[in-house]
Amino acid sequence: LVKMEGLHKSYGGGAVKVLQGLDIEMKAGDRVVVIGPSGGGKSTLLRVLMGLEKIDRGSVTFGGKPYISTNGNGKTDIDAKVRRSIGMVFQHYTLFPHLDVIGNLILAPMKVRGEKKAAAQERAMGLLTRFGLAQKANFYPAQLSGGQKQRVAIARALMLDPKLMLFDEVTSALDPELVAEVEQVILQLAKQDMPMVIVTHDMWFAKNIASRVIFCAGGVVVEDGPPEQVLGSPKEERTREFIERVF
Ligand code: ATP
Ligand code: MG
Repeated sequence: LVKMEGLHKSYGGGAVKVLQGLDIEMKAGDRVVVIGPSGGGKSTLLRVLMGLEKIDRGSVTFGGKPYISTNGNGKTDIDAKVRRSIGMVFQHYTLFPHLDVIGNLILAPMKVRGEKKAAAQERAMGLLTRFGLAQKANFYPAQLSGGQKQRVAIARALMLDPKLMLFDEVTSALDPELVAEVEQVILQLAKQDMPMVIVTHDMWFAKNIASRVIFCAGGVVVEDGPPEQVLGSPKEERTREFIERVF
């Protein structure tokens, strides 16, 4: 589904090297959990995949077709159509504060796809019902709990029928009692075989959602394998140290 090859990304004109030759190949059914030290480039990786960042070198293909490429002049070419087929949810809620929940959901489909308002609203209500949020359709973000906001953010991303979902620590800003309701929504998507890349520090969630766990450090993939192996009996010393320290 996605093939990342030799991804290099730095900030400050090369001063801060973040991705240093990252290779990851994702199959259609994969749910990849990315773990690694703070500052190791996990968020940068997701932002690159989402087409939000330029890269220095490397390439990404999506469904076998070029998605992100560099031509050596420091220019990054991103296929906008592919980008629209990827959805992302961030750690901090990024809902539009001046729109109610349903307004947040229907904005992009109407703008990007020219969908009719009534049709978009109908789909939005379907998703909200599925996520237990139907009664909140006319609430504004400020009137929602953190967990509700994150579920709305996930529903909003799904309105564009993504072929891949990216989740960057979507529960780490939440009170502990709200974490489960958001993780359940993502687990539900996983059951429907939505391909996803997830950055999380939640061991329980990682074990339950991952088909693969990738440990990234120093801008490269250090270890990549099934969750039982990478989380349970890592091969690499660096992975073992990290897991003992963090989980
Ligand atoms: P965390 O677990 O803390 O979220 P992370 O693995 O997501 O960390 P990134 O946010 O990708 O790490 O950051 C990787 C490195 O890139 C860090 O050293 C960070 O300071 C740097 N960095 C990230 N964004 C920028 C930016 N816009 N400008 C300059 N440096 C940046
Ligand atoms: Mg991060």
